[in-house]
Amino acid sequence: MFHALPDLPYSFDALEPSIDAQTMEIHYSKHHQGYVDKLNKALEQAPPFQKLSIEELLVSLDSIPKEIRTAVRNNGGGTANHTLYWITMSPDGGGKPEGNVGAAIDGAFGSFPKFQQQFTEAAHSIFGSGWCWLSMDANEKLAIETTANQDNPLMHGSKPILGLDMWEHAFYLKHQNQKADYIKGWWNVVNWDNVGKWFAGKTWYAEPAKRS
Ligand code: MN
Repeated sequence: MFHALPDLPYSFDALEPSIDAQTMEIHYSKHHQGYVDKLNKALEQAPPFQKLSIEELLVSLDSIPKEIRTAVRNNGGGTANHTLYWITMSPDGGGKPEGNVGAAIDGAFGSFPKFQQQFTEAAHSIFGSGWCWLSMDANEKLAIETTANQDNPLMHGSKPILGLDMWEHAFYLKHQNQKADYIKGWWNVVNWDNVGKWFAGKTWYAEPAKRS
């Protein structure tokens, strides 16, 4: 086993009412676990890549053997994306970003409310399954972007610091087709302290090869 499901830093019901306990449990123990398991299975066929961190894998997809590239892209993305998703939420979250990341958001988008509005619109614009991100390029320039499926900004050279899962499995049990309610609730649990840490350069993914 090369990659492991990270511990969830709160209980399944901790983000109620924004995220309901049943959705959390299925999303974490079935969906996220499934991506981790399938990534590990794919990597069994590619020993040179077994020691790479999830970030190193996602930035070097082009060098991964063709036979398993799609599996690594989808399941490596799913592994990474959900790791970031859990730890950028918190029962003590919400409010607005402070410090350097708060200033950077104000600088890039005009104000926090303007950023929230643009991010919310981008999340709504996703057709099919995908993610909405706040990411930064090598010059720490912030951008809102969306990706399809389980793609991650790392695959095209940006570093995500906040990610919103817009797959229906993230919200359908509680919100059905009401994406707006899901997004509105999510803002109330965003862990801005951690977003500030990723902005400052701390890594959000576990180091690789936590062998069992
Ligand atoms: Mn998901």
